[in-house]
Amino acid sequence: MRRMQTSDTTRMSLVPLKTAEKDPSGQARYARQFHVMAKPGGAKCNIDCQYCFYLHKEGLLHQPRQPRMDDETLEHFIQSYINSHDGNEIVFSWQGGEPTLLGIDYFRNVVALQKKYQPKGVTLHNDLQTNGIALNDAWCQFLKEHHFLVGLSIDGPREIHDKYRVTKSGKPTFDAVMRAVECLRKHDVPFNALTVVNRHNAKFPLEVYRFLTKELGATYIQFTPCVEANAFKTTAPQFWNASMLPVVGSELSKPGHPMSVVTDWSVDPDDWGNFLKGVFEEWVNHDLGRVLVNLFETAVAQTMGYPSQLCVTSEFCGKALAIEHDGSVYSCDHFVYPEYKLGNIRDHKLNHMVFSVRQEAFGMSKRDSLPDYCLSCDHLNLCWGECPKNRLIKTPEGEIGLNYLCSGLKAFYEYASPILVGIATMIQQQKR
Ligand code: SF4
Ligand code: SF4
Repeated sequence: MRRMQTSDTTRMSLVPLKTAEKDPSGQARYARQFHVMAKPGGAKCNIDCQYCFYLHKEGLLHQPRQPRMDDETLEHFIQSYINSHDGNEIVFSWQGGEPTLLGIDYFRNVVALQKKYQPKGVTLHNDLQTNGIALNDAWCQFLKEHHFLVGLSIDGPREIHDKYRVTKSGKPTFDAVMRAVECLRKHDVPFNALTVVNRHNAKFPLEVYRFLTKELGATYIQFTPCVEANAFKTTAPQFWNASMLPVVGSELSKPGHPMSVVTDWSVDPDDWGNFLKGVFEEWVNHDLGRVLVNLFETAVAQTMGYPSQLCVTSEFCGKALAIEHDGSVYSCDHFVYPEYKLGNIRDHKLNHMVFSVRQEAFGMSKRDSLPDYCLSCDHLNLCWGECPKNRLIKTPEGEIGLNYLCSGLKAFYEYASPILVGIATMIQQQKR
């Protein structure tokens, strides 16, 4: 089997880089910055979204029926996460599975441990990513009191949201999510909309966007394209059989074919392009500067010459890791597979895993494994081949490593680039 380049990094040993330790010079030649998505309750969830990329980890990682990061591991994680950062802002992100299943007292302990290890002059932030089902007055009071930012998963208005986001018995969840929105509003808890753009809702860009901004009142929206390799439950990214990967534009490079390279619920790449174009036009005309859309904000910043704010559109990545309930640390939230396990915080220092030769190689390969097709693309500096998890297809020349979303990304960037230049120029003039 011919494997992709990134997989080579999984065979590397865990040698810490010099920058794993705090800069001893006292002259701040480098600052250690990274992010870990914490999954203290494992993959356990109270609903059963049909497109979920994480539920199958219960089986893949042999998780117990009720996974729970124990108190000792939690304290060790919090302490070492704080100690492995330089700078005066540290963000903790709690996700799953569904983190609220652990109960409010679990997170009271989180906050108490954070206070115990919080250095002077350092601000700690908490994000909680949730489906909202369990949120009630008690939860919202807690979240407000401790300044949590909530990321609420919602895919659009009722019919669109309920297409895939259903309970374990297949019932819709829209009403429960809207009750959570009411509760968050009542307690004045800030929240962002986390919207997965899948095969269905991608066909309704304006309905989705207008619902999120007008009915939900969201002023920060994170759109994530739903892309899952058809073998995602068993095969780690980049371990695909290269000879089976289809060429861009072929039938198998799109969802819907029984032999497609992706699951049936993955967004069609061309729909992704149309979705981005439709939402971008609406955003530019009505919401520029008022609503923050993750992909557009970073495209503006990149056009102005700043680095990308998102890993997926960065030249390199590898600074967004994941920790599971048992203390296992993985290269990325989307690479929680045995092949990408760096180690366990019980056996290795967190900073030695994050700033290791192996993790550095993982991050560098985002650029170094790009096919020539991307390297000669007009939009390389905005796209950078998107996420390596999605590099499921071949270029027209048959080279591996092309992103499944390429046709949509190209269409979007071709449409948006001149407008992005106009926005960047306007912002620069306003600054003068
Ligand atoms: S692998 Fe993808 S999601 Fe993970 S850090 Fe890299 S770009 Fe981001
Ligand atoms: S638009 Fe396509 S060819 Fe261009 S950098 Fe992105 S994935 Fe590569």
